[in-house]
Amino acid sequence: MDFLKLIAAKRDGKRLRPQDWRWIAEAASEGLVPLYQLAALLMAVYLRGMTFSETFALTQTIADSGERLTWPGVDRPLVDKHSTGGVGDKLSLVVVPLLAACGAAVPKLSGRGLGHTGGTLDKLAAIPGYRAELSPEELLRILTRTSCFIAGHTRRIAPADAVLYHLRDVTATVDSVPLVTASIVGKKLAAGAETFVIDVKTGRGALFPGQPKSLRLARLIKRASEKAGRRCVCVVSEMGAPLGRRVGNALEVEEALAVLAGEDVPEVRELSLELAAQGLNAAGIAPGITAARQLARRGLDDGSAREAFEQMIAAQGGDLGTFAKRKRGTAYSAELKAKKDGWLRRLDALVVGRAARLAGAGRTLADDEVDPEAGVEIIAKPGSKITTGDPILVVHATTEDKLRAAMTELHGGITIGDEQPGPRPLIRKILS
Ligand code: URA
Repeated sequence: MDFLKLIAAKRDGKRLRPQDWRWIAEAASEGLVPLYQLAALLMAVYLRGMTFSETFALTQTIADSGERLTWPGVDRPLVDKHSTGGVGDKLSLVVVPLLAACGAAVPKLSGRGLGHTGGTLDKLAAIPGYRAELSPEELLRILTRTSCFIAGHTRRIAPADAVLYHLRDVTATVDSVPLVTASIVGKKLAAGAETFVIDVKTGRGALFPGQPKSLRLARLIKRASEKAGRRCVCVVSEMGAPLGRRVGNALEVEEALAVLAGEDVPEVRELSLELAAQGLNAAGIAPGITAARQLARRGLDDGSAREAFEQMIAAQGGDLGTFAKRKRGTAYSAELKAKKDGWLRRLDALVVGRAARLAGAGRTLADDEVDPEAGVEIIAKPGSKITTGDPILVVHATTEDKLRAAMTELHGGITIGDEQPGPRPLIRKILS
């Protein structure tokens, strides 16, 4: 196959055939064409778009580019949860064990964070001993025993996506609705669940800040998943401001533990319950959404989700006792204080995410080290009334330079005004 012809065809707005997409995925995962040709093709796709049949063909070839995991002997409905990425988004740490506590089996594969959004694996890595790299045999053993795991993607699963996603990251082609769809759904298909619950974020801290594109993404993810024979619910949720009160790895594990212990952390409890309920309903575990919501609330409030989380962490080698005993915080911390009286009208998720990364909680390059204790605590949430000198945020960083960089970044992310802002609904749309 002449790769140059494929690039030229896409450049000219032509539709590629399923066998072309198969070849592209194979060329990516096996290194059969130079990366500059793959990069040129991605840019042509980004600019020209893809039809649904092209998107679906790429989705399937990504899923088939490595092993497709199966879960023999697991007799519960298999449910998977995914987020398109946000700031302070620790929901997987709550939703995965909650689904398991309510009767699902949840084989969840996650990634590390890159850019301003955090990654679930980096959060879990803050727990001493936690192992994310597990063999398929270990994964099956853990899923059979504890009904859930959160592990890392390996090169054996959807390897074409690893290459394409990395290239997209360095060629400004990440935010393409069909490419994101193929990447997410391809990986989910390979992980072997029957029902997907996808949290599609919208707002400043999201992959697609505007609602129309977030909605298009949600519709396309649902359509591609259903064409592949899976049930899929997409919840479009607000990511204009960070979720909850903690951004950073250990800080977010601590907040997730608080929610699992029954605390009503703003946004985190509400959205976790809704995502879990949608999953339980779509998987047929509860007879209707009202019963599913009741089941999810009970699972969180009676401690069974927390128990499922503890069992999952222990099965993956993590030591929550040592995590809890460790003193939180870093050598360098500072408060960002209100410069005037008024209402906190804006706390920009993108800016807070960037600041947390600068403080040491995230990475700019794929090989950067992450500091588990670095991050941002949110003292005042948008909509709060504040007085000059009140702390709005606390930043924790490992060095003075990092602290200064994070504090400088944050100044552009806060607006205090005279008028109380109107409420912003957390859940924008549910495609069930
Ligand atoms: N998350 C993914 O897994 N893939 C994308 O393309 C974007 C976000």
